[in-house]
Amino acid sequence: MSIKIFNTLTRTKEEFVPLEPGKVKMYVCGPTVYNYIHIGNARPMIVFDTVRRYMEHKGYQVNYVSNFTDVDDKIIKKANEEGVASEVISQRFIAECKKDMEALNVRPATAHPQATQEIDGMLQMIDTLIRKGHAYAAEDGTVYFRTRSFPGYGKLSHKNLDDLQGGNRSLLVSGEDQKEDPLDFVLWKPKKEGEPYWKSPWCDGRPGWHIECSVMSRHYLGEEIDIHAGGEDLIFPHHENEIAQSEAANGKPFARYWMHNAFLNIDNRKMSKSAGNFFTVREILEKYDPQVLRFFMLSAHYRSPLNFSAELMEAAKNGYDRIVTSVENLNYLLERAAAGKVVSEKAPAPGMTETEKKLAGDAAEFVNRFDEAMDDDFNTADAISVIFELVKFANTNARDDSSEEFLQTLKKEILLLSDICGLVVERKQEMLDGEIEALIAERQAARKAKNFARADQIRKELQEKGIILEDTREGVKWKRA
Ligand code: AMP
Ligand code: ZN
Repeated sequence: MSIKIFNTLTRTKEEFVPLEPGKVKMYVCGPTVYNYIHIGNARPMIVFDTVRRYMEHKGYQVNYVSNFTDVDDKIIKKANEEGVASEVISQRFIAECKKDMEALNVRPATAHPQATQEIDGMLQMIDTLIRKGHAYAAEDGTVYFRTRSFPGYGKLSHKNLDDLQGGNRSLLVSGEDQKEDPLDFVLWKPKKEGEPYWKSPWCDGRPGWHIECSVMSRHYLGEEIDIHAGGEDLIFPHHENEIAQSEAANGKPFARYWMHNAFLNIDNRKMSKSAGNFFTVREILEKYDPQVLRFFMLSAHYRSPLNFSAELMEAAKNGYDRIVTSVENLNYLLERAAAGKVVSEKAPAPGMTETEKKLAGDAAEFVNRFDEAMDDDFNTADAISVIFELVKFANTNARDDSSEEFLQTLKKEILLLSDICGLVVERKQEMLDGEIEALIAERQAARKAKNFARADQIRKELQEKGIILEDTREGVKWKRA
């Protein structure tokens, strides 16, 4: 079965056909880094990370690019308030954002470009646009995109130029009075006192916001890409302007599929920094396991608004715990099955019984049903229901006398489906002090016997469990990382 994606461009669900067989080129607009990210910003991160994981599960190689906007009025304002350079602010919050992403099990992108590192590319694209008649420099050095020169303008947001014209008349703010047309938007603007700036043929200044994504997308993925994504507030003007810039400069269609997540709301209003009605990811993680937040985000379809509330978080916690408990139960039964095997070592593990083989076949069906839900425009809400059904099936059919192989099959399937959702459902078992000390003693004995391979292996094994060894004159000391 192929994947169907709701494409904002056509407002229909379309079969996903990649530009190049087996490969996906995907660009997701990232955050402006002047503060900790809020959980609204985390929604696209989690949603599109899940899209990426599912695509990989289907065998695609995904080239996933997501930017950090690190030059912006808000960053500059904060830098001036603190009396530091704006990159001090942006680097600080890029690092903090990456920590939040890691906690939420959002995998790092293939590339995380930053606007300030791509200025040359922006100057080049602006120059091309001017040469092709799609942009012009005003007297003060501001460069504008000539919106009416691009015939497809409005195709993403399904807006008509004349309606926009009416709406935009009031948007003529001071400093923009040199525009040829109120619809034109800024590609490059002159520096102001106390702002970072770069040299350009038009004036010392800095880029407008939209040009960075057109340039970074082309730099890392090429002129044509498969999927471009972000929150629905980006449809207009950001993505509309990106299309105009890219297609006018490259003379080619830009992205084939445009995906937009609906808002994360609070009291049915969009959560946003400017409205002040937000919780940072950091604040939420003080109260909840990050996996619960991830589960919560995926419990609704990405195109449905999601209202944040303590009740829904509680429901998410219960849902997530149900999966974790089922895996714990399987691990418990597996330990018992393994212990049983030691007692009767001579007899080889019996493998699955005929009944278990049939049940394992039934369990495999859940994977197909999960895929069906995800193929339908990444319906994570339905996909999670399938995981619950699998969990129920496992709870019913895993028994004290189940074979190890059968138990492993059930566990593997629960882990597989959870992992596609980026949910970690197997809690790492902490090593007990006694176990650690026994391994250290074994390592000492191995070293004495000059079996260094085994000694190294033990060190590595401990390291993987977060135990750090230190060889001191008084002997081996250890601590938890
Ligand atoms: P920003 O830092 O505002 O540019 O936002 C970064 C990303 O988060 C963009 O894809 C936005 O569309 C998205 N975003 C911001 N607020 C919300 C929200 N309340 N719900 C869902 N997505 C959001
Ligand atoms: Zn963007």
